[in-house]
Amino acid sequence: MYLVKGLRGLLGHAMMALAKEQGREICHSSDKSETQKGEQIIPEGFHPTGACYPKNECIKHKIMGSIHRPSRIKFEPVIIVSSQAKQKPIGNVNVVHIATEKRNALAFGTKKAIQDFGERYFSGEFSLKIELLEELAPEVLKFLLQALLYMPELGLGASVNNGAGKIELLEIAFEEVQRTRAVTMQGEIREEEKTRSLWKELEAILS
Ligand SMILES: [Zn+2]
Repeated sequence: MYLVKGLRGLLGHAMMALAKEQGREICHSSDKSETQKGEQIIPEGFHPTGACYPKNECIKHKIMGSIHRPSRIKFEPVIIVSSQAKQKPIGNVNVVHIATEKRNALAFGTKKAIQDFGERYFSGEFSLKIELLEELAPEVLKFLLQALLYMPELGLGASVNNGAGKIELLEIAFEEVQRTRAVTMQGEIREEEKTRSLWKELEAILS
């Protein structure tokens, strides 16, 4: 089993690209304004993460937070398992195709390995659950939704040249979830999840 990493970062980058298009200033992914050598890191239209808080909290900070304030959304871990795996998948595990690439970097002109790489690539469908820890203002919720829809525009990470990380959104659900856990007479734990679609409420906010 593997954990899919980087999805929160991807959403953060989608927010940055979106905000740039919309002409609003938001937190950059870096919390420093310059390198140790004094070179500016933060491009125009951004401020170092958390620099806006608390006086002028920007829309990204209202969602993602920083070291000054915890995030108002929580990502549930996305767990994947290979479709070739012998064990039966349990619970919220996503079954996908996983490939491994092993290679090493050799020092120039020698057969001496400097570094060994083992990278896993996967393809397939998975669900990403984001929990809202607090009620978000309509404008903030709208920005979050727009950023989620923007994610497929990026999705290339730092590895643009090898084409890794193509993402496609298939479906979005916006729902209220109630989870209850009860112990039966036999001592088994029974977990129940009740969901209620909030699309109507969302439509009202977005219109
Ligand atoms: Zn900010």
